[in-house]
Amino acid sequence: LGTVVAVDGPAAAGKTTTCLALSKSFDLRYLESGRTYRIIAFEALQRDIPVENATKVTGLCDELITASRSVSLLTSDRYAQDKLRAARVNVAVSTVAKIAEVRQRVTSLIRLWAGAQPRCVIEGRDIGTTIFPAATVKFYLTAKPEVRAMRRVRQERAASYEHVLDDVVRRDEADMSRTTSPLVPAEDAIRIDTTELTVEQVLRLMTSACRD
Ligand code: C5P
Repeated sequence: LGTVVAVDGPAAAGKTTTCLALSKSFDLRYLESGRTYRIIAFEALQRDIPVENATKVTGLCDELITASRSVSLLTSDRYAQDKLRAARVNVAVSTVAKIAEVRQRVTSLIRLWAGAQPRCVIEGRDIGTTIFPAATVKFYLTAKPEVRAMRRVRQERAASYEHVLDDVVRRDEADMSRTTSPLVPAEDAIRIDTTELTVEQVLRLMTSACRD
């Protein structure tokens, strides 16, 4: 395995923004792992599969993996961003991400994908803890929920602050309390609380850690 930069943390902590910047600066291939959980949740909703039904959702997951010939499900461009980010997907994805068999499959796909990249940066919830415990550099980004919600509202203009805050808090709680790969910082992760920091300041910290 080549270089893997793992970026984990709660919802709307700035993972995507900073990963994209790191990917440019260090010529790393970028993977947004949450997108795969969103695709599975979206497809379950489309097909009226109850997201609480672990057996059915796992079956769907296998079907999607086969249809996209394994690892390309992770980077599939069949799904528009606004569809995967819809409110109903935000709700369903937390339930889908609790299913151990689904996590197992997504984990294998991510490992396969990364094995084919010389250098990559991956964002998610369990990259530095479960998927790549031996990642080259690990970051855990966080910020006060109110600040994260406010940033998300500014970015996505349409949504209301209260709604976004509720969603962020609800998803964090689901991610932190699940039994399989709950959201926790890896022991050796560089923790950055971005509450009082600008994107530039966060990036400076991350960039210097990647240079070391
Ligand atoms: O990163 P994003 O917010 O798009 O992820 C959507 C959801 O997918 C998260 O709320 C979380 O429940 C789940 N997820 C996960 N493990 C990952 C990435 C995302 O459980 N590595």
